[in-house]
Amino acid sequence: MNQPQTGELQALDRAHHLHPFTDFKALGEEGSRIITHAEGIYIYDSEGQRILDGMAGLWCVNLGYGRQELVDAATEQMRQLPYYNNFFKTTHEPAVRLAEKLCQLAPSDINRVFFTGSGSEANDTVLRMVRRYWAIKGRPRKRVVIARENAYHGSTIAGMSLGGMAPMHAQGGPCVPGIEHIRQPYWFGEGRDQSPTAFGQECAAALEAKILELGEDNVAAFIAEPVQGAGGAIIPPDSYWPAIKAVLARHDILLVVDEVICGFGRLGEWFGSQHYALQPDLMPIAKGLSSGYLPIGGVLVGDRVAEALIEEGGEFFHGFTYSGHPTCAAVALRNLELMEREGVIQHVREDVGPYLAKRWSELAEHPIVGEARSLGLIGSLELVADKANGERFDKSLAAGNLCRDLCFQHGLVIRSVGDTMIVSPPLVMTREQIDELVALARQALDDTARHLGITSINSSKGDR
Ligand SMILES: *Cc1c(COP(=O)(O)O)cnc(C)c1O
Repeated sequence: MNQPQTGELQALDRAHHLHPFTDFKALGEEGSRIITHAEGIYIYDSEGQRILDGMAGLWCVNLGYGRQELVDAATEQMRQLPYYNNFFKTTHEPAVRLAEKLCQLAPSDINRVFFTGSGSEANDTVLRMVRRYWAIKGRPRKRVVIARENAYHGSTIAGMSLGGMAPMHAQGGPCVPGIEHIRQPYWFGEGRDQSPTAFGQECAAALEAKILELGEDNVAAFIAEPVQGAGGAIIPPDSYWPAIKAVLARHDILLVVDEVICGFGRLGEWFGSQHYALQPDLMPIAKGLSSGYLPIGGVLVGDRVAEALIEEGGEFFHGFTYSGHPTCAAVALRNLELMEREGVIQHVREDVGPYLAKRWSELAEHPIVGEARSLGLIGSLELVADKANGERFDKSLAAGNLCRDLCFQHGLVIRSVGDTMIVSPPLVMTREQIDELVALARQALDDTARHLGITSINSSKGDR
């Protein structure tokens, strides 16, 4: 294999390439890591380091790297029909077959899909659809969407506005009007003075309070992820979703479940909604839909909204050049077929999900870990300065970033959100690979503690 010239690429990168979610100047000074190739759950950089990809790219490479079947699906489709649109009374087999497959996998009252190129575009579509729905129903004042603080729903203007990331709002505002945020069910961060059960109920009560404050006649929808991904792999208390469902049952508003991360096996079901027994009206999807091999997203549309749009709506003035792109759709379809054939969902639910839960929870004993939680193949660690009371490290220490960089040095990608460390690895991992992931994370935690001057490290026994 031709080794690229690391220094030359870094210089060109610095000169011409603005990276997403990046401090351009700081990265320029440090230089980018150049990823050259990947296989299975490992990526390789231009210096020859092998790195276990504990984030599945960006929460998406669920089947792992190097899947020839996906390459073949793209190649065959590109030869036959690389692109055609779905706008003017035309379509093609990949878009139709993928739509059918998705509706077969989705909860039973979801039978339509609107394709997009990404998760952000899917959430733009959500905003357009919920407002259109209520307008068609003769209730145009029902326009407000309730979302949650610290939610991530994408980085277009609508995605950012639906999301509850304060730094994004500060840079990208003013946000789209008619979006309100309530508190998130983040027990470790915001609820430790109560039991998780009580806290989950209180967070759900915040939804009802917001609906009453705004007036139900003004509220179109509530949007949330089953488990918040980018917010910090926040698994809500068990009481949360049942209490939210009870609130929704008392009010006539739509439920939008953002499945961009939780969809396609992450929680051990096809959709996170199925894990929590939710009945969404709309489900934005992307990421794992194609295992990241090509960009594609969409919105799964429940019968209630679809029938209004179809029967009473006339033309819906919305869509993207790449809505239902045939090559992306062909790859997504093959990806779903492979997941079925290989039993990936059961693998997560019955084997590696419980195994990760067991191994990951052992990290809670580490001196700088305040909590270790996981569900299916998503997990996180809360870094703390004081285990006894959960006190955080001083912000200036940037403990999370330090730990992330040390993970990289040890050959592991895990991500930091503040001082919360996140894993979301490929779903095809084996138990042995989970052992390796946990061992690498433990070494990086030990190193992090050492760098931060914590001396009581004796937890590395038993791991390599
Ligand atoms: C990544 C993400 C999005 C945005 O998807 P893009 O494809 O990056 O536009 C939306 N919602 C959630 C929950 C996500 O994690």
